Amino acid sequence: MSDPFGRDAQELIRREFGDVLTLLERIPSSIDPDEALSLVGWMLKSNEPPGELLRTDPLEELRDLFRFYALLGALAFSPYGIEAEFVKKATAKLYRARIERKGSLEGSLLKIEPTEGIPERDRKILERAMDRSLPEDEREKLKLKYRMHLSEFLELWEGSLKEVYVRKGYAYLRWDEALKLWEMAFERRFDKAVSLLADVRDELPEFYEELKEKLEELAGEYFKERLEKLGKVGAKPLRFDLFPPCVKEALKGVPAGMRNYAITVLLTSFLSYARICPNPPRKDVRVKDCVSDLRVIEEEILPVIIEAGNRCKPPLFEDQPHEIKNIWYHLGFGLTDKPTLEDSGNSTWYFPPNCDKIRANAPQLCKPDRYCRGVKNPLTYYLRRLAREERSETGEGGEEGG
Ligand code: SF4
Repeated sequence: MSDPFGRDAQELIRREFGDVLTLLERIPSSIDPDEALSLVGWMLKSNEPPGELLRTDPLEELRDLFRFYALLGALAFSPYGIEAEFVKKATAKLYRARIERKGSLEGSLLKIEPTEGIPERDRKILERAMDRSLPEDEREKLKLKYRMHLSEFLELWEGSLKEVYVRKGYAYLRWDEALKLWEMAFERRFDKAVSLLADVRDELPEFYEELKEKLEELAGEYFKERLEKLGKVGAKPLRFDLFPPCVKEALKGVPAGMRNYAITVLLTSFLSYARICPNPPRKDVRVKDCVSDLRVIEEEILPVIIEAGNRCKPPLFEDQPHEIKNIWYHLGFGLTDKPTLEDSGNSTWYFPPNCDKIRANAPQLCKPDRYCRGVKNPLTYYLRRLAREERSETGEGGEEGG
């Protein structure tokens, strides 16, 4: 299978299992964790996937999909960690190499069509058909191989429209351009799939948690140098400059009707998870699972929440002093204003609301920027930007755009 998100693969999953969750239930009885790891383990030894992973046997297509979806299932337990980055990088390389070998993007997730409708004169110019000195491989590279509807194309393309031939609502693509777009589409679909699976991870068999532990070791080994440069992974001081627009709006203070939602619901959950538990190990995590005393909340998180509350019109905590108890309640300590660490777990530690909830409850807060594209929760926005920033700090390529 040359694209596990492609139309052919999706059709196979639908036909054999109905949906991805049923597929994930079936996987543990069909392969063991090491077999899934073989799809990505080569990254520790080589930059290019080994030949045996490029030759795919049509009879083994399902098994091949099992391996990929097993890895996705494991990432549901660490959707934003280095494991996800490691698997995404390895699988993007592997499937790209398979597509190159096959020489066709048909059946992939990219919504392309064979080219048609190019006036002969334009084609000759664009493909330099009259240039007899052009070597055959160069000539091949210049061929306009596919066309893509502009609405789909603009979702992915980050360059200028002047760089491609556009005609009657379609962008025409050479092989290398189409491959690059496929890679971007693959990475987006990968992020989306992992974050959807994270929402249902409590329903997944234990197999995936075990696999995640093994992936953690591989990814730790692969990113060893970066981790050494950055120190401990996980909880870190907050980077306000990388916050999503909705959180920045809430920090500025908001009018009366939105105060409780912006401060107590959004800021409290966002700041606490972003600061002390960016990768919650499970859904019902408590503050005491992530920190050993309350200082980080009292000294770093609460002052920011109170300051934002004071900027509201009228100031939230002057108007409603009992709202402080509600903040602790949303942090999982029950309704109190003098909590101890042991109280954590007395109520639910609320996870940041998804973007659609924010738009429904406080539409004025959502002012999406280019990094919001494809993001469904403000915490994802922040963690993605943080990861890109860290890559740039360690010289591995930084903010590559939205
Ligand atoms: S799209 Fe989501 S992250 Fe971006 S501003 Fe809106 S609510 Fe915030």
